[in-house]
Amino acid sequence: MGRFRARFFDPAGRRYGLPTWPWRMAPPHLMTRRQLTAAGLRPGGQEVVGQVLWASRRYRAPGGVRAAYLYDVRFALPKRTATPAQLRALGKALAARRTCPDCRRDVGYVLPRHLGTCLDCAEGIAA
Ligand SMILES: [Zn+2]
Repeated sequence: MGRFRARFFDPAGRRYGLPTWPWRMAPPHLMTRRQLTAAGLRPGGQEVVGQVLWASRRYRAPGGVRAAYLYDVRFALPKRTATPAQLRALGKALAARRTCPDCRRDVGYVLPRHLGTCLDCAEGIAA
């Protein structure tokens, strides 16, 4: 490892405040968002756990340094990409939960389970 790469070698995050590795030297269980996507995964709400830093001549950043953030693949979740059919089914299921069996209206809110009807019908029954 040359001096140039050693500059970005900080697995404890003492210098950068975030565990840092040079390009291609991060532990295998840490992946960039792009690598996760390629593996059919998503970060799943986890915080960034590290970064890869590398010098790029083409990039006009301070010092020409670029960063890619890393996520822990052990906490990653499968990518959720609903198909149009799945979205339609979900819409139908939600509509069913909003539709009152008594007045047959889609009342725009999910029916309270303990009533089993919309609030209007429940009040009518109570009155
Ligand atoms: Zn009703």
